[in-house]
Amino acid sequence: MPRFDSLVIGGGLVGSAVAYGLARRGLKVALLDEGDVAYRASRGNFGLVWVQSKGIGVPEYQRWTRQSSTLWDDFAIELKNETGVDVAHEHRGGVHICISEEDFAARRRQMEQLHLESGETRFEYEMLDHAQLKKLMPEIGPEVAGASYTPYDGAANPLYLLRSLHSAFLKRGGQYFPNSRVGALKAAPHDFTVTAGGAKFNAPKLVLAAGLGNKTLGALVGLNVPVEPVKGQIFVTERVKPILSMLTIWVRQMAEGGLLIGESREEVGFNDATTPDVQQFLAARAIKMFPFLRDVRIVRHWGALRVMAPDGLPIYEQSGHFPGAFVATCHSGVTLAAAHALRYAKFVADGALPPELARFSNKRFDVQNAA
Ligand SMILES: Cc1cc2nc3c(=O)[nH]c(=O)nc-3n(C[C@H](O)[C@H](O)[C@H](O)COP(=O)(O)OP(=O)(O)OC[C@H]3O[C@@H](n4cnc5c(N)ncnc54)[C@H](O)[C@@H]3O)c2cc1C
Repeated sequence: MPRFDSLVIGGGLVGSAVAYGLARRGLKVALLDEGDVAYRASRGNFGLVWVQSKGIGVPEYQRWTRQSSTLWDDFAIELKNETGVDVAHEHRGGVHICISEEDFAARRRQMEQLHLESGETRFEYEMLDHAQLKKLMPEIGPEVAGASYTPYDGAANPLYLLRSLHSAFLKRGGQYFPNSRVGALKAAPHDFTVTAGGAKFNAPKLVLAAGLGNKTLGALVGLNVPVEPVKGQIFVTERVKPILSMLTIWVRQMAEGGLLIGESREEVGFNDATTPDVQQFLAARAIKMFPFLRDVRIVRHWGALRVMAPDGLPIYEQSGHFPGAFVATCHSGVTLAAAHALRYAKFVADGALPPELARFSNKRFDVQNAA
């Protein structure tokens, strides 16, 4: 039976970022992935490295996200140097557009709260009214009330990111096993044997990064991982000349010229089908923001399932029953890719999660804690 220093289950953005981070530290790592039959958020997302709005009431989440966004600058360069793949990372700040005055007022309150809660890390933002925003983005529609702006936001191409994480992982000696659904798992402290794709793999460390699959796998190593699917629908338009001067949360133009328009939030279980009603809603909202979109053709529409904890925060934990088994799951796998590769992987390699991640422990779901 092949022995590794660590097994990582799940080859999406979270698993491949952690696996790359471990291999980068010299560990011998096997990355096992179920394949195309699984739900895979990493192949259907919007690609934002988004900081504003993260962690309202939870400053630890704001700090972790900010940290990742900062790490992303060098991380994108590192991936390019390692693999030759340019992940189209941009970090020039972003705006959250508010269509109504009511949205604008609510947004101002949220940003004030983030600022107050940020302590010495200082969360800086600006509220831009219609006229101020129009100077930055002449393409906005007359109904737009304004926007919040922060310099922290960015974006990347999530498919190039996934490709480059896999490629960097392999270059560092990692071994990737596609079509390897982990069903059976034998656990003892610092000793894990999994059966996948007809083979057995053993290691003293195990990282569960199987997205929605973590709920079932977690139970096998004594970890409660209560993630549920939340559907998001997105569509992409034909390529047009560069037109959007800023990055926004619901409409963004990719380097190739196509515009991504998103995204819904639907709690409909394991159903990733597209629906015309949501398409109409998204299109109508996008046209209110940017009337020029009325004349741009949609070329593709898809749905994908977010991996969502009940409170929307990541879950990072090491099993108490089976030390050496970790879980990493979140609903912002693009944004947090740099933190997962450069920080979370280090914690796993060192064998302990630090106090800065304590807020993301699954202990928050314990009944006693909730009471
Ligand atoms: C519509 C939408 C828009 C989004 N927009 C953004 C955004 O703009 N920015 C951002 O940061 N994030 C965004 N996200 C979230 C982001 O896509 C996810 O956080 C991220 O993809 C989660 O990655 P993951 O690796 O945890 O899960 P997944 O991508 O779901 O991957 C899990 C992997 O585990 C494998 N697996 C499952 N079970 C098993 C098993 N038993 N054995 C072996 N392998 C298994 C599957 O094959 C799969 O490849 C968005 C998500 C959606 C749906």
